[in-house]
Amino acid sequence: MSHTSSETTWMPTGTTGLIFNEPLLWEQGAEGRCGMSVPESDVLMSPLDSELVGDGPDWPNLSELDVVRHFTRLSQWNFGVDSNMYPLGSCTMKYNPKINERQAALPGFAGSHPLLPESLSQGALKLLYDLERYLAEVTGLPAISLQPAAGSHGELTGMLIFAAYHKAQGKPRHKVLIPDTAHGTNPASAALCGFKSIPLASGEDGILTPEMVDELMDEDTAGIMITNPNTLGLFENNIKEVAEVIHAKGGLIYGDGANMNAVMGIVNMADVGVDVLHLNLHKTFSTPHGGGGPGAGPVCVTEALRPFLPVPRVVKEGDTYRWDEDYPQSVGKVHAFYGNFGVLVRAYSYVLSMGPFLKKASQLAVLNANYIKESLKEVFHLPFDRVCMHECVFTDKYQEQHKVATLDMAKRLMDYGFHPPTVYFPLVVHGAIMIEPTESENKETLDRFIAAMRAIAEEAREHPDLLHQAPRNPKLGRLDETLAARKPCLCG
Ligand SMILES: *Cc1c(COP(=O)(O)O)cnc(C)c1O
Repeated sequence: MSHTSSETTWMPTGTTGLIFNEPLLWEQGAEGRCGMSVPESDVLMSPLDSELVGDGPDWPNLSELDVVRHFTRLSQWNFGVDSNMYPLGSCTMKYNPKINERQAALPGFAGSHPLLPESLSQGALKLLYDLERYLAEVTGLPAISLQPAAGSHGELTGMLIFAAYHKAQGKPRHKVLIPDTAHGTNPASAALCGFKSIPLASGEDGILTPEMVDELMDEDTAGIMITNPNTLGLFENNIKEVAEVIHAKGGLIYGDGANMNAVMGIVNMADVGVDVLHLNLHKTFSTPHGGGGPGAGPVCVTEALRPFLPVPRVVKEGDTYRWDEDYPQSVGKVHAFYGNFGVLVRAYSYVLSMGPFLKKASQLAVLNANYIKESLKEVFHLPFDRVCMHECVFTDKYQEQHKVATLDMAKRLMDYGFHPPTVYFPLVVHGAIMIEPTESENKETLDRFIAAMRAIAEEAREHPDLLHQAPRNPKLGRLDETLAARKPCLCG
């Protein structure tokens, strides 16, 4: 790259020479080529065999090397956290240690069948039981269901619990408060449960104030859904006072804990007043994601809400584990069998391997985000200039005068070898650029990312065209995103 700033010595990019075009397998190969040579059969073919061979599928004829290269090249078109920094805000694209994959792939786990009797599944049941205990320790909330398959699925389960709780109190409620800094899935989950979501503007410094919550809270409101840290990457400093306002009028606090990567082992969610919280095991607890699943969004609740959790629940009697369905107030089942077991094994392995270092992971995630924030705030507009948590949010305000927008800069980052950050989210910030470095990145990588962002800010002033044409180094240039969304081509 010729446009990197002077302090950068090495960028993991700069060559496109080894990214190959790749035809379909059917367009390759030649008659008679095959993956391996086996000796000529000395057994006579039976009529049945020749029939099958004669009408076999139209497979291409390829050598082993043809096949290996084909799939290796295709894999090189991909970008993942194993390639380079992936600072996608709100997504926690951190490195997932391979040891946790290894544990989930152990035949005893990968091959266990959910219909096996309890007596033959004691190991799996113990794992689920212990994982619940560990997550209770991390969150401070004592009762947990591991069933939900995603963060939003956890929210849905949480809203079902809200509804079941108020029904049990003898007075169903119909509204849920949702701040403008909550994740977009929150209002959708509330609506799916029949609640009307009431939008709530956050205060000037990007967080909630108890006064604003008090104005909207009433006896027909089931509670509030708070994303904490919120989608601006800020900690809700007033969460305790907000919780008091809600509780005083009989409401509940839902904590969207998808951003737990900032506060693991630091914030006790029960102490700050949260009644129901979901975790994203596929963000914080070592399941790779980004390809659409599988995931897990366990729901953690206070003792008072335990009766409403989904069934079945794993219980321990003496040294034996079993499933218990006998919870008449339960919201029922929310997933086939017991949830996505492989994801739960990864989380179990991750928690055990990290132990007290979970707290350190959060501290480093916060430190890294603040390092980026401080290093870039001169060149990118920072709408909320305060200590951030695991992610920081900039805008394209300083670049607007050069007719360069957030999208152009995100695309240009690919030319520097980085995955673009989250853009145009959260919606409350115009032209948002949301960066979440995670704890996985070392200082050299952070410095390279900062250098790339600074170089881009300089290009915006000096060579805006470069940005309008970006990206140029990846295999494909700028795509028409509207067309791609409207007319997806899914068949290759
Ligand atoms: C990712 C995320 C969700 C949704 O989680 P999914 O597993 O994608 O459904 C909800 N809330 C927040 C704050 C998130 O970051």
